Amino acid sequence: MIYFGPSGNPEDFYADGNKSSEQMPKWLFESGLNAYEYPCSKGVNIGELKANQIGSEAAKYGIRLSIHAPYYINFASDIEENLMKSRKWLTDSMVAATWMGADRVVFHPGSATGIDRKIALTRVNKQMQVVLKEAEELGVDHITLCPELMGKVNQLGTLEEVIQICKTDDRLTPCIDFGHLHARDFGRLNSTEDFEIVIRMLWDQLGRERGRGFHCHFSRIEYTAKGGEKKHHTFADKEYGPDFDLLVPLIYKYDLLPVFICESNGTMAKDALEMKKLYESYQR
Ligand SMILES: [Zn+2]
Repeated sequence: MIYFGPSGNPEDFYADGNKSSEQMPKWLFESGLNAYEYPCSKGVNIGELKANQIGSEAAKYGIRLSIHAPYYINFASDIEENLMKSRKWLTDSMVAATWMGADRVVFHPGSATGIDRKIALTRVNKQMQVVLKEAEELGVDHITLCPELMGKVNQLGTLEEVIQICKTDDRLTPCIDFGHLHARDFGRLNSTEDFEIVIRMLWDQLGRERGRGFHCHFSRIEYTAKGGEKKHHTFADKEYGPDFDLLVPLIYKYDLLPVFICESNGTMAKDALEMKKLYESYQR
């Protein structure tokens, strides 16, 4: 099964008179979608009751849930206090995911500003082992952690770095953000072949299971002259890439089973539905 859904609550959801995230699963189901990424980007502020409510609605309507962990996480820091806080943000997200019945937590690995990237990556990999151990102790290590491919050049999380992080433990699955990849590499995704290089890398280096079932963020994106993400756009802003329809043939060719989360600016549910339709209407 392939999953399509939005990151957070789109404008249409509120325009339809809804107020709270507990209403999202039903609304998504009625919209024809089956995934929802709940944002804890500004902190894990959700309580157990609300998480349970979202979870039971999601179970009722067949919506697959994931959580986006706080943006403040930085596992490349050399300050122990920052690392401790980062681990806590991540394990708190895993606890919330458990309450909710979500099976994945997406996170930003860290900042490479002013540090040699190899040193930064070594620090992140070391922290992955510590945080997984802590997750085991909390009984939440059944949640899959997804380090995200990042859009800004000074952030740790190139395609290669995300693969290296995932190689350290089977419980890590990449979050491939194609918009971010496109932005940080000056618009590199312009053909199905360009996407195929990425899929083959995942497949060759992480094996069949993670090569097929990775987590995926998708949006059209604007990048700066120096490379790197400037702004997420909507699918209607056709002057910005990448195009989802270039990826569609590869879903069939490699029998991919990703969770596709659309991160369009405000129209993430409408655009997730467009992705689903492009996938379903593809003629082999
Ligand atoms: Zn993210």
